[in-house]
Amino acid sequence: MPWKGEKNPYKIWVSEIILQQTRVQQGEKYYRALLKKYPDIAALANANESELYKIWQGLGYYSRCKNMLQTAKMIVNDYNGIFPHSYDDILKLKGIGPYTAAAIAAFAFDLPYAVVDGNVIRILSRYFGIESPYQSAKEKKQFELLAQKLLPKKQSASYNQAIMDLGATICKPQSPLCESCPFAKKCYAYIHGRISELPAKKSKIILKDRYFHFFIFENKQSIFIQQRNEKDIWQHLYSPYRIEKQKINLTEYPFLKGLKYSKIPERYTQKLSHQKIHGFFYRMEVNNLDCIQDLQLIKIPKARLSIYAFPKMIISFFEKNNYL
Ligand code: SF4
Repeated sequence: MPWKGEKNPYKIWVSEIILQQTRVQQGEKYYRALLKKYPDIAALANANESELYKIWQGLGYYSRCKNMLQTAKMIVNDYNGIFPHSYDDILKLKGIGPYTAAAIAAFAFDLPYAVVDGNVIRILSRYFGIESPYQSAKEKKQFELLAQKLLPKKQSASYNQAIMDLGATICKPQSPLCESCPFAKKCYAYIHGRISELPAKKSKIILKDRYFHFFIFENKQSIFIQQRNEKDIWQHLYSPYRIEKQKINLTEYPFLKGLKYSKIPERYTQKLSHQKIHGFFYRMEVNNLDCIQDLQLIKIPKARLSIYAFPKMIISFFEKNNYL
């Protein structure tokens, strides 16, 4: 992991924001790409928003990107471009919650804040035999208080790194290496044969199904897209014109009258944390642009599609159908 042992708060912050919803393996290439383009906070504060979103494309949870840009500008304007040095000031920054603030405070400034990630939760659950999952606010508080109590206040950075490493390499989710673990003698889960049951499973989130119909309007070598500005998923990304409806009757839409379309038989799906998106695509050649003039679409050459940031599902469609 390129951010391991890092002391630069800007780089720690970038890595933590990426890792908030992304696995390490996937996050690493985004981390490198972001730092290459924006090597410091001033460079990020001056970033062109579209270029930043393009680098972020595929990572999901795009509000992270928007918050990063706002935070970088705030640090430049309000803190002279110097990352704040106290936990409370770090916590005030947009997009930074208690976990990320603790990670920056501990790793960059060696401040006494315990970092509670999945590795730490697993070790604490198993070692102390904690039966509740890390889910409700009350349950989270229980873990955070315990982690904070265990933290040696003068070796915050190395302790936090050590416990996270122990979780990643010894107390692994599957087949932990208990024989090599320095805590085996007093570990509740090891002594009582409860390793596979701890940490306790979170209750399942029921995903909400949403049905999106995308209309690929084409005119010779041009294609029409729109930017998603409403407060919803995929905010700031681009997409073809979209109608959300479970079952659609195309005759209800006057702008489609007289347009010849072909429905792509394949259904595309994408799972988000609380939603499952079902995507249907229709291709339409538009000869008379008056039909779609009220839809507020942007006309771009097909050859320039790749410079816009699209949600994963739409990229899959474009790739499969030779647009990209
Ligand atoms: S003994 Fe096994 S289960 Fe307990 S903390 Fe060590 S690795 Fe984890």
